[in-house]
Amino acid sequence: MKLLQNQNSDNIITIDGPSGSGKSTTGKLLAREKAFVYLDTGAMYRAVALAASRKNLNPEDEDALRELCSEIDISFKQGSDGQKVFLNEEDITEKIRTPEIDMLASGISAVKSVRQALVELQRNAGANGKIVVDGRDAGTVIFPNARFKFFLNATLEERAKRRYKELVEKNLKVVYADIFRDVQRRDRADSSRELSPLRPAADAVIIDTTGMTIEDVLSKISSEIELMASSLT
Ligand code: C5P
Repeated sequence: MKLLQNQNSDNIITIDGPSGSGKSTTGKLLAREKAFVYLDTGAMYRAVALAASRKNLNPEDEDALRELCSEIDISFKQGSDGQKVFLNEEDITEKIRTPEIDMLASGISAVKSVRQALVELQRNAGANGKIVVDGRDAGTVIFPNARFKFFLNATLEERAKRRYKELVEKNLKVVYADIFRDVQRRDRADSSRELSPLRPAADAVIIDTTGMTIEDVLSKISSEIELMASSLT
């Protein structure tokens, strides 16, 4: 597979970071503001995790997961209340946002065949640029040549609180201590895995979002983009 280096890299914005760092909310708003496509790469790992759990696949079975990835179709469609995620023809937007899928997605994302299949889809989605990509490896692996790279972070406590609030708002019965522990475990697994570990690209702008509102983060990113764009012209 050939990486489409340099092609429209001016129009690719990557936002990486751990769970609860604010990257998805900011990414969605930024994409809307700039009329760019928004690609939620985490949702793709979640979709594979849901499909694997329905088939009772061993989440470490490289071959079975490769086959699964070649069979399923993951897509995004814009609904009146935001972007929807589809697995084949089924709307799975809500089904992939549970603590069980959080952990399962983190597990299967360490499997090589899954990463290969999804990275190829992600690169194709960004081949024409004008895209905001959020994930763990968007700036390091998917689009290493993207012009605008960000890495968001926040303290573990703040990220766990954000995640807890998000789940409570969805009426899921969750215990804060469990969510804290899960976020911590996911951080460890995502940062220490061998393939595409969570880390900032060398040329990413790092933003600590602790204590910042989404509006603050958005305005910081927008001004950094303006600054970088003006220094390029
Ligand atoms: O971002 P989100 O929490 O939805 O991602 C779910 C899981 O998918 C993460 O914990 C991570 O393990 C995995 N992931 C990844 N690479 C990405 C996006 C997500 O490994 N680009």
